[in-house]
Amino acid sequence: MALTATCPHCNGTTFEIEEIEANGARFKHYFIQCSQCGAPAGVTEYNNVGQLINELEGKVTKFQADLTSALVLISRKLDEVSRRIADGFNRAKREP
Ligand SMILES: [Zn+2]
Repeated sequence: MALTATCPHCNGTTFEIEEIEANGARFKHYFIQCSQCGAPAGVTEYNNVGQLINELEGKVTKFQADLTSALVLISRKLDEVSRRIADGFNRAKREP
C-alpha cells in the first residue's frame, strides 16, 4: 500500500519547492509547500550538503593521490642525491 502525502490544510497531494530567506536565518532554505494552498509541509537546506560532501570527497581523494605522487617523486630524488653523495665519498677515499 503506497502512502500519499497530503496537505494538512486542503488535502492537496502535490507539492513544490520554494526558496525562502527566513528572518533570523543565517542561510537560505527551501520550503516544501502544497502546490494548491501554499501551506508549508517541510523545510530543507538551500545547499545540498550531501552533494557538497561528495564534491569534497572527490577533491580530497584527488589531493591525496597528487600528494602521494609528489612524495614518491621526492623520495626518488632524495635516493638519487644520497647515491651521488655516497659515490662522491667513495671516489674521495680512493683518490689519495
Ligand atoms: Zn494545501
